[in-house]
Amino acid sequence: FGGLPPLAELPPPALSFEFFPPKTDALEAQLWSCIRRLEPLAPRFVSVTYGAGGSTQARTHATVARLVKETSLTPAAHLTCVAASRREVDDVARAYWEAGVRHIVALRGDPPAGVERYEPHPEGYAYAADLVEGLSRIAPFEISVAAYPETHPSALSTDHDLDNLKRKIDAGATRAITQYFFDTDIYLRFLDRCLAAGITVPIVPGIMPVSNFTQMKKFSAMCGAGVPDWMGRLFEGLEDDAETRRMVAAVVAAEQVRLLQANGVDEFHFYTLNRPDLVFAIAHILGARPAGTAAA
Ligand code: FAD
Repeated sequence: FGGLPPLAELPPPALSFEFFPPKTDALEAQLWSCIRRLEPLAPRFVSVTYGAGGSTQARTHATVARLVKETSLTPAAHLTCVAASRREVDDVARAYWEAGVRHIVALRGDPPAGVERYEPHPEGYAYAADLVEGLSRIAPFEISVAAYPETHPSALSTDHDLDNLKRKIDAGATRAITQYFFDTDIYLRFLDRCLAAGITVPIVPGIMPVSNFTQMKKFSAMCGAGVPDWMGRLFEGLEDDAETRRMVAAVVAAEQVRLLQANGVDEFHFYTLNRPDLVFAIAHILGARPAGTAAA
């Protein structure tokens, strides 16, 4: 960490955590144990994803509703445009509002598995910016949107993608959460480009602790996140050694968040994959402590 401020010197950052809705009882138990472990860190909000093609609508809703009823957490429900009419999407949004959900992560979503090109539903919201506009008409939601420091893979151009982010903010979003990235310089340069484009809302870095490097590399190729060569070298030879991989992953993520924190970033969004331990450790390194146990 040469050049970085001593550990635990900077004020603790604001945190948020992303979960996905579970498919089975076992995964449900894993999710809730993850939520209970991270809850004392008093995140600003926790978000629950919406499956590709809107496939988890009921499960996302059930998870978010339970978060409202049974925890002290503020949930944000992800909502996508894919494969649904505006009316259907609006109904889902209204149901969230009625269930007490006040924060939506508004996304276009990806085409369903096996379909290569995204085609808007004929009666649907075509892009996330349209969804943000629609949501603003339904209720005064807090709205977050996605941002891509390395440019969205199907964007017409880098500038067009940045204009798109600006449109989402101008339509009413008050925060962007980034796709995960591993090269901190790329994110910092992206912040500069956002500012130059007049985007002044927080662009919260999405942090992905990597415990399964092989899987992450495959996924990154699809979602346009670059995986630097140095990461490949770090995880080399650890394919059958999950324990060492986790330790390496902790170091990689801790180094990344420390560098970001040293560059003034004071809010972090963690892709938890419903596993709490790495996230808890990294948040701890950043200075987060369970509520009520602040360091003297
Ligand atoms: P948009 O902002 O609509 O942009 C999509 C693409 O279209 C971009 O390339 C943009 O440049 C381009 N574009 C926008 N407007 C136009 C236009 N008028 N003409 C031509 N091109 C245009 N996916 C899920 O299915 N469920 C989730 O829960 C989910 N959560 C996510 C959370 C975060 C923080 C992030 C970063 C991504 C998430 N995704 C999720 C993935 C996301 O749905 C995909 O990346 C999707 O391909 C783009 O969604 P978007 O909201 O960024 O789309």
